[in-house]
Amino acid sequence: MEKKNIDWGNLGFTYMRTDQRFVANWKDGVWDDGAMTADADLVINECAGVLQYSQSCFEGLKAYTTEDGRIVTFRPDLNGQRMEDSCRRLEMPVYPKEKFVEAVIRTVKANESYVPPYGSGATLYIRPFMYASGPVIGVKPADEFQFRIFTTPVGPYFKGGVKPITIRISDFDRAAPNGTGHIKAGLNYAMSLYAIVDAHKQGFDENMYLDAATHTKVEETGGANFIFVTGDNKVVTPKSGSILPSITRRSLMYVAKEYLGLETEEREIYKEELKDFAECGLCGTAAVISPVGKIVDHGTEICLPAGMTDMGPVTRKLYDTLTGIQMGRIEAPAGWIQEIR
Ligand SMILES: *Cc1c(COP(=O)(O)O)cnc(C)c1O
Repeated sequence: MEKKNIDWGNLGFTYMRTDQRFVANWKDGVWDDGAMTADADLVINECAGVLQYSQSCFEGLKAYTTEDGRIVTFRPDLNGQRMEDSCRRLEMPVYPKEKFVEAVIRTVKANESYVPPYGSGATLYIRPFMYASGPVIGVKPADEFQFRIFTTPVGPYFKGGVKPITIRISDFDRAAPNGTGHIKAGLNYAMSLYAIVDAHKQGFDENMYLDAATHTKVEETGGANFIFVTGDNKVVTPKSGSILPSITRRSLMYVAKEYLGLETEEREIYKEELKDFAECGLCGTAAVISPVGKIVDHGTEICLPAGMTDMGPVTRKLYDTLTGIQMGRIEAPAGWIQEIR
């Protein structure tokens, strides 16, 4: 297939309209078969549930070209499962994960000419989402919904090399105990915007959110989970019911244990422990791992020994191994790579 004439290496993380997207509608208690469409615009009623009460959720994953020229996605079944969980918590109809994976494959195939070539560092970002399309004015779940998947090519996350970031401990909260922090709801992002804009104004790259109840334990940032490396090379990640279960983080913990032979632990991590860690990274689909060089706690700087110029050695190994698996250079655990073509 002929690739589009795109300067792959200079793409940012912005929306580019591609040729085809998947659409399915929920009406009278059932999903229709779904179809591909060239129409990127939506016409919805002014009273649609998504507009009035923010009934919506989403997912994010990527398609890659491997070293040997195949097009693959990474663990899309886990995105499908997570979207089911999000839908249940938001009183939205579940789009079954098996059909979710089929629809992802179909959408990527239909936009194959936008899948960046191997070695460009760019990828095809896949955005499945669901929203309440039916009108509601009394506060209740809508009765009509739309599920869509579009794709957009995105550039390499670390353009011009890796640069460790500086984050601050936030006074704002991201998620309440027993709230919606563990699901991928659009509303979680809406309420984090004020805090991230404020962080940027103050010169920080990201917010580190603490647990809302006690402000003593580390949770995550607005869109990525934490992993830490201890002085004796143990990989630890915070345990909490209000953290979004990142597929990247879960995969990295597996890689740490099974590929790198490191000890791993998911446990409560106290703010007071931050000064003792050797390395810190943010994990998510966008960057895989973004190294954190400095954490600022109300004027007190915690400088990670890994420094401000490169990834720490364990973070680097984790990054190289997981991206190697995704790009087909390293053998993947069974079921991790979904072949598309
Ligand atoms: C999507 C998301 C992540 C990262 O999850 P991945 O599955 O690794 O992409 C982390 N935190 C939040 C709040 C998220 O919404």
